[in-house]
Amino acid sequence: MLHFDFYSPEEELVLPLYELHGIRVFVKRDDLIHPYISGNKWRKLKYPLQQAQKEKKKLLVTFGGAWSNHLLATACAGAKFGFRTYGFVRGEAVDNPVLKLCQIFGMELQFVDRERYRNKTALFDTHFANSTDAFFIDEGGFGMLAAQGCAEITNELSQVYDHCFCACGTGTTLAGLALGLATQQTGTVLHGIPVLKGAGFIRDEIQKLGIIDSSAVQLHLDYHFGGYAKTKPELIEFIKMFAQQTSLLIEPTYTGKLFYALHDLILKRKIERGSTVLMVHTGGLTGLLGMLHKF
Ligand SMILES: *Cc1c(COP(=O)(O)O)cnc(C)c1O
Repeated sequence: MLHFDFYSPEEELVLPLYELHGIRVFVKRDDLIHPYISGNKWRKLKYPLQQAQKEKKKLLVTFGGAWSNHLLATACAGAKFGFRTYGFVRGEAVDNPVLKLCQIFGMELQFVDRERYRNKTALFDTHFANSTDAFFIDEGGFGMLAAQGCAEITNELSQVYDHCFCACGTGTTLAGLALGLATQQTGTVLHGIPVLKGAGFIRDEIQKLGIIDSSAVQLHLDYHFGGYAKTKPELIEFIKMFAQQTSLLIEPTYTGKLFYALHDLILKRKIERGSTVLMVHTGGLTGLLGMLHKF
């Protein structure tokens, strides 16, 4: 079946702030899984792609913004596992390094205005009604199969953590972690850092994915820095400090907000002394390509 070996160790991150507060922080290096099928995007694609293969589908059809990590991951995974790929891109036609990479991996791109983009199933149906080859993958990979792939992160852990943090777009990764941690009953407190403004909807989304008791998940809604792909000089400065002190690269859209949130919560003494924390690095560093002018 679809499989590739990958390396995603847990590495301890040493920073003066963590030491000062007596907190040990580890990073699950999902960013090392693959340069383009990066981080949680591989976890989320694994079971949908197996499903597509079982149904003998030949064409993966999916959706994303012009800088979408999910589009790029799907394009590269298609090339790797023998599917053609088709991406609906939100908004007017543009050219950028991420879309270029998608095309190099063979993805056919179709730009659609924001109005029509909203209804993904309608778009799929109008373009692929007569195709027996096409396989629908939702925007960002959202779905139950994707969450199951993300749950596997928790099987790979070498120790029990008091806290686990991840960045949230659709909330699928968070839902998967919640599923995995619930099975293991380790008592780990799960924290989600939504990168969108007004992301209370994530609670409903993860409930849809089968998390009955989403009250066990703590959502921190104040670290979006103005909204999706929005940033502030403070966040950019933080990312530079972080990269220089740890040699770990993070970016402004997801993981920058994630690690900033941990810093802030530690400063506000919301994480108790003596705890261990796992940060899931969900990858997506190609997102930096669209943000370089901010640095
Ligand atoms: C897509 C993405 C996310 C969001 O994951 P969801 O499962 O949609 O919440 C987080 N981090 C990175 C780096 C991503 O590319």
